Amino acid sequence: MARKDIIKLLAGFKRFKEKYFETENSVYQKLSVGQSPKTLIIGCCDSRVDPAIISSASPGDIFVVRNVANLVPPYEIGGGFHGVSAAIEFAVTSLKVENVLILGHRQCGGIRSLFSENRQDDSFISQWMKIAKEARVEVLNKFPDADLETQCKQCELESIKVSLKNLTTFPFIQKAQKERDLNILGIYFDLEEGKLWEFDEKDNEFKNIEV
Ligand SMILES: [Zn+2]
Repeated sequence: MARKDIIKLLAGFKRFKEKYFETENSVYQKLSVGQSPKTLIIGCCDSRVDPAIISSASPGDIFVVRNVANLVPPYEIGGGFHGVSAAIEFAVTSLKVENVLILGHRQCGGIRSLFSENRQDDSFISQWMKIAKEARVEVLNKFPDADLETQCKQCELESIKVSLKNLTTFPFIQKAQKERDLNILGIYFDLEEGKLWEFDEKDNEFKNIEV
């Protein structure tokens, strides 16, 4: 029954409140005057890849925007509701974060949809996933005979590179890179293996992060 799930969430809020509100000099006592997170994370909506849980972050540590397949659209002006671009703009120009991190992951349903027969329907998902279509083309060129799992995994990685490239099309990102050395990175969470991989631009490959 759905109410059972809500009761579980409310019990969780009780524990959260005890930890972050009901102590001397509580975390929220400090945070109630404002936020100054150092890192913007662009992650997927997938319930298994919450950036705050994966990084054991505390409230106030990270500014997060999540969307289907952790994609960054290219810079566009004009009509449309650019929610992701607005969040990135706020983090970079107002909060002045020092890092922008794109967090991809294994078993991404959004990426998988690029390989389904219905990928060109008029759903919101297929419209949105057009951002990653060049990643799909790249994977089909490089791994034409690979099985679906391999192609999906490679596309999850490749789409991070597309988003990194799209990030640099925003004028305020270019400005922050030039003027204050904004750090941009792409990380892949393999939820099957419990491993993180970071994109190395110089070698054009993902490298395992030892933790
Ligand atoms: Zn995903």
